[in-house]
Amino acid sequence: MLTPVLDDAVESLTGNAGVIALWKEDLKKFVETVTYGLDSDGVKRVSALLKTVIPDLASRKNSYDRLSHLIPAQHFSMLEVRWMFDPVIAMPFWAGNNVRGVICVLRSPASNPFNSVDQRVLSAFVSQTVMLIDNDLLTSQLAEERYKVESIVEHSADGIMTIDSERRILSFNTSMERLTGWSRSEAIGNYCFHVLKLTDRHGDDLCQGKCPVVTGVSGLYSQRGAIVARDSKKIDVDMGYSLLSGSGGFPSTVVVNVRDISALRQIEDMRSLLLAGVSHELQTPISIIKAYASTLARTDVEWSPQILREKLNAIEEESDRLSELVTKLLYTSQLETGSIPLNRMLVHLPKEAGKVAKRLAGETEIHKLEVDFPPDFPGIYADPEKITEVLNNLVDNAIKFSPSGGTVTIRGEVLEEEVRVTVADEGIGISLRDQARLFERFSRVGDVRARSVPGMGLGLYICKTIIETHEGRICAEGVPGKGSKFIFTLPISASG
Ligand code: ADP
Repeated sequence: MLTPVLDDAVESLTGNAGVIALWKEDLKKFVETVTYGLDSDGVKRVSALLKTVIPDLASRKNSYDRLSHLIPAQHFSMLEVRWMFDPVIAMPFWAGNNVRGVICVLRSPASNPFNSVDQRVLSAFVSQTVMLIDNDLLTSQLAEERYKVESIVEHSADGIMTIDSERRILSFNTSMERLTGWSRSEAIGNYCFHVLKLTDRHGDDLCQGKCPVVTGVSGLYSQRGAIVARDSKKIDVDMGYSLLSGSGGFPSTVVVNVRDISALRQIEDMRSLLLAGVSHELQTPISIIKAYASTLARTDVEWSPQILREKLNAIEEESDRLSELVTKLLYTSQLETGSIPLNRMLVHLPKEAGKVAKRLAGETEIHKLEVDFPPDFPGIYADPEKITEVLNNLVDNAIKFSPSGGTVTIRGEVLEEEVRVTVADEGIGISLRDQARLFERFSRVGDVRARSVPGMGLGLYICKTIIETHEGRICAEGVPGKGSKFIFTLPISASG
C-alpha cells in the first residue's frame, strides 16, 4: 500500500533510494517497511541508519541537508551508509505527540543537497502516507469489530439467524444448526418457514399467520411456539424478531433469535402437574375424613361400637394416606435442594424386607407376600430408614398395581461386588416405552389415572434418588398384563 507513495516520493525528489519505516513502540525503534532502490546490502545499511541516526534526524524540524552536516562527527563516522548515500532527507510523521514513522529519500554521494522545496514536496508525501496508514488502521479495526460481532453471534447459546424481506435465510449460527438439525449450507437460501415450521400449542401454523415479516409489525417482536427439528422432534422456543427497516420503511433484514425453552416448559408443566396432583391427592382423603367425622358427630343417631370402629379406622387410614403424601412431598423438596444425608450402618436386608412384607401383608387380603433371600446374604452399609422407604414404596406399588391380587415377591441375590433385590408382582405390568419414564418426578404411566389408582408419581423418583445416593442402580422390567419387576442393586463394600 505504501510502495507507490515511496516510489513517487523518490522520483519527485530525484532521489536514488528511499525508505518508509514505521516506529515500533515495543522495540523502541524504526523498522523499515517499504524500500526503494536498495539491494539487500543497501537495506542492511539503511537499517543501521534507522537505528542510530534517523531518530535524531527525524526529530529535527529542519530535517534536510547532508548527513555530514547534521550528524555529529563521532556518530557519523560509524555510518557506512555515507559511502552509498548522502545527502538524505527524512521526515517523521506523528500521531499526536507520538512518532509513527519516518519517510526518507536518499541521493547518491556528490548529488545536490535537498532544499526547502524538497522538504515541502516530501511533506505532501508524508500526508499521503499518514492518510493511507489511517485508512488501513480503520479497515483492520472494522474487520476486527466485524470478527468480534460474528464470533459473538456464532458462539451464542441462542440460535440466531437473519432473513431477508422474502423470509429467505441469510445467515444461520451453530446453535441454530444444533437446535434444528439443519446444516448452515442447507439452511441458507431456504425459506425460514420451511426450516422452522413454527406452530403454537394447538399445532396452528405461526409462520403464516403471525410472522412479523408478513403482518408488517416493525421494531421488536416476540412470540412463543414450537419448532419441528429435522428429526421431527418438537422443541418449545421463544422467538425474538428484530426488524431492520430498509428504504421505504419495509424490513430489509430481520434478525431472529431462537431460544430453546423446553426445560422451562418442562418446569412449568411440572408445576401445574404438581398443583393438580397435590390438590387431587389431598382432596380425596380430606373429603373422606370429613364425611366420616361429620357422620360420627351426628347427635340423632346412636352408632354401634362396630360401626364406630369401622369409621374411625377409615379416618385413621385416610389420615395415614395424607401423612404419607406430605412425607413424600417433603422428601422430594429435600431432594431438590441438595443431596440427602445418609446415616449409614450395617443393614441386614432380609430382616428389613421381612418387616416391610409383614406390615404391608396386613393391609391386603388378596395378595400373598413372599420374602426370598439366600442364607449367606451379606450385611451392607446403608441407611436403614431410607432403604426401608425404598422397599416400602416398591412393595406398596406392587400391591397397588396388582388389582386382582397375586404374589408379590421380594427376592435377594448376591453378585460379585453387589447385592441385587427384586420386587416382583403379577399385576398390570409396564410397557417398554413407559419403563424409561417411570423414575421421573410426577411420572404416572399406563392407564393408572383412568383406573383412579391414588398416587402422585413421586415414589419411584424418591427410590431412584435414594438408591443412587448409595451408589446403586435401579430399573424396571415388565410386560403389560403380566406383572412387573423392580430391581435395585447396592454395592457390598459401600461404607459410610
Ligand atoms: P405413584 O405410585 O404415587 O403414582 P410412583 O413413582 O411410585 O408413583 O410410580 C409411578 C408410576 O409407575 C405409577 O403411577 C405407575 O404408573 C407405575 N408403576 C409403579 N409401580 C408399578 C408396578 N408395580 N406395576 C405397574 N406399574 C407401576
